[in-house]
Formats: sequence, C-alpha cells, structure tokens
Amino acid sequence: MSAQATTVVPTAVPEQLLDRFGRTVRDLRVSVTDRCNLRCTYCMPAHGLAWLPGPQLLTVAEIARLARLAVERLGVERIRLTGGEPLLRRDLEQIVAALSALRTRAGAKPDIGLTTNGLGLDKRAPGLRAAGLDRVNVSIDALDPRQYAALTRRDRLDDVLRGVAGAQAAGLAPIKVNAVAVPEGLEERAPQLAAECLRRGWQLRFIEHMPLGPRGTWKANDVVGAEQVLAVLRRAGFALTPVGRPDRRPAALWEVAAGTGPDGADYPAGRVGVIASVTAPFCADCDRTRLTADGRLLTCLFSAAETDLRGPMRAGADDEELLRIWADSAWHKPRAHGMNDPRSPSEFTAPARTMSAIGG
Ligand code: SAM
Ligand code: SF4
Repeated sequence: MSAQATTVVPTAVPEQLLDRFGRTVRDLRVSVTDRCNLRCTYCMPAHGLAWLPGPQLLTVAEIARLARLAVERLGVERIRLTGGEPLLRRDLEQIVAALSALRTRAGAKPDIGLTTNGLGLDKRAPGLRAAGLDRVNVSIDALDPRQYAALTRRDRLDDVLRGVAGAQAAGLAPIKVNAVAVPEGLEERAPQLAAECLRRGWQLRFIEHMPLGPRGTWKANDVVGAEQVLAVLRRAGFALTPVGRPDRRPAALWEVAAGTGPDGADYPAGRVGVIASVTAPFCADCDRTRLTADGRLLTCLFSAAETDLRGPMRAGADDEELLRIWADSAWHKPRAHGMNDPRSPSEFTAPARTMSAIGG
C-alpha cells in the first residue's frame, strides 16, 4: 500500500476497482432506502427527513445489475445492505436472492450482510436467510428501555430484542451489535451491553460518533474515543487484552476475560470491539465503496463528491459504460477523510447527505 498518489488515470475498464493510492475495493455497501422508523439522535432530526420519492430509488433489477457488475466484473466479494432502515423495503428478500445468485471471480457466493435496527427482524429473518443472507449487524445503543428510547426517540427496545432473537433462531451468524459511543449514559450503557452481548454470543462493537448526523449536533470535543470506551469498561471490572484489527477490518478488538456484570450475573470470556473512525481512522486499509438508495456512488462515508450511476443506467448505458464510470469514481477516492488531520483540515468537508441518506 502506497501513500503516494499516482497520476495515471486508467483508460481501459479495469478488472478491479483501484484508486490512486493503491487500495482495491472488495466491499460494497448498498443502501436500499433512506427511510427509517427510528429517529436516533446522532443520525436523524426528530422530525425525520424529506424522503426520496419512490421512483428515485433503485429497483430490485437495478440493484441486481449494479451488484452483478461489482461482483462479476470488478472483484467485489462482500455486499452489505443498509439504509435508512433496510427492513422497510418489502422487496428486501428479492434483493438478497438476486445478490445470492451472483458468483465472485473465485466462484463463490458473495458474502451478504445486513445492517438493521432490528425492528421486525424476527418476522423477516427466516425468509432473508432462505434468500441467502449470511449475517446481520443490529444497532442497539442501550439495554435499559428508557435509555434506548431517549437515544432512538422510540420506545421499541423489546421489539428489537425480539428481532435479534429471531435472527439468531434463523441461523444468521455471527450476530454483531453496533452501539454508538455517545456520552449520554455511557458509564451505565457500555458495561450492560458488554456483559449481555457476551452472554448471548453477540459480538459488540462500539462506534465512535461521526459528524454525519443532523447539522450542528456533532462537536469534536464530545467525541468519546476508543480509549474512553475501554476506560469505562475497565472501571466496571472488565479485564481487556488488545487483539488488534484482524484482517484489517474497521473494528479493533479486545479479548474480555470471564467475569461478573453490573447486574451481578456472570458473563463468559469473549471479545468486544471499537470502530475508531474518528480517533484512529483506518482509511489506509479501506476496501469499501458505497451505493446510495438513489444510485449514487460514494467512495467514502465522508465523501462530498457523488457519482450518478442511476441516470446513465436509466438513459440506456451499456455495462461497459457503467463500468467505466464506476472505475473512474473509484480512482478518485481521497486518501483519507481528513476529519481529524490537523495537517490537512481542508481535506474534510462534511458531506451533503447525513448518515441515513448515505447508508451507514
Ligand atoms: N438503520 C440501520 C441501523 O441503524 O443499523 C442501518 C443504517 S444506520 C445509518 C447504520 C449504522 O450507522 C448504525 O449502526 C448506526 O448506529 C450508525 N450511525 C448512524 N449515525 C451515526 C453517527 N453519526 N456516527 C456513528 N455511527 C452512526
Ligand atoms: Fe434509523 Fe439506523 Fe439512523 Fe437510527 S441509525 S435513525 S435506525 S437509519
């Protein structure tokens, strides 16, 4: 991996999505909707957002076509469906089935994941599993119903827990739990979550709060960094040993020794993770690219630039033309998001869209 940009722009359609800094895309995040049934404080304003009109969303066939190009022509190996809340798409099972029919260069089914708030997951999990879904990440910020309702602005914790249990029963594994490390109630929330996730066999990852929510709600000084999250867990008695970032994935992991949780009940040994996008960015290892629900490519969550694939696709572009547009967009991926880099603050401009509209 080189940190030096090369200036030669690819002319022919490449067989991989490469950028100027030597990175290769293997992981595609597809947002299937910008709508949501929660209003998490760090993600959306209380009144919601102006949703995209239905005709602007990519159809199942359009998602399937772009995913086919990504997997069969551009070397993508993993696809994660996200949103907004992806379970709000009634045709999500059809989308998963279409992705599941694809084959990577190595002849394998792509790994298909879903990031969801878990509402209604119990009813959908068997069908999604049968369609070819491999794994789920469920967002649960708190296990106390009042804290959960305060953070998501909806009193739905029981429904979410039912959803995760349904996913587990349907054989979706591993189950990962995402919790945003906002400071509100963290001293209580983090140990409760860690103990319960270890007991249930769920892999918990705290995510540092990124400036991608409603305008004006993020302050650099309020960011709870990985070290602070670990300090909270240690104060609550968790014995943690660093593992690092296996396979250069975003989550840094710690081994947790078996112990007793804040409720007095034991938990087994396991692991906990932190995604330190703000305090320890992993841009140099990033192998992701994103497709929004309305068919725009974003090379980075923080990207201010978007490349339209839906327009050319609906205007009749053939596969080669779409591949060229995609490869050109990938080539111009910035070196880093620049959010925390005092040497290059000008490289960071908050994107026009917020998290739910990008696809987290
Ligand atoms: N609705 C689904 C969910 O909540 O899992 C999928 C979309 S959501 C945008 C994807 C992930 O982004 C969630 O785990 C959520 O907690 C996280 N997220 C949203 N806003 C964030 C922010 N400002 N900083 C860090 N993570 C955020
Ligand atoms: Fe909805 Fe997910 Fe954003 Fe929460 S984080 S408001 S569940 S899109």
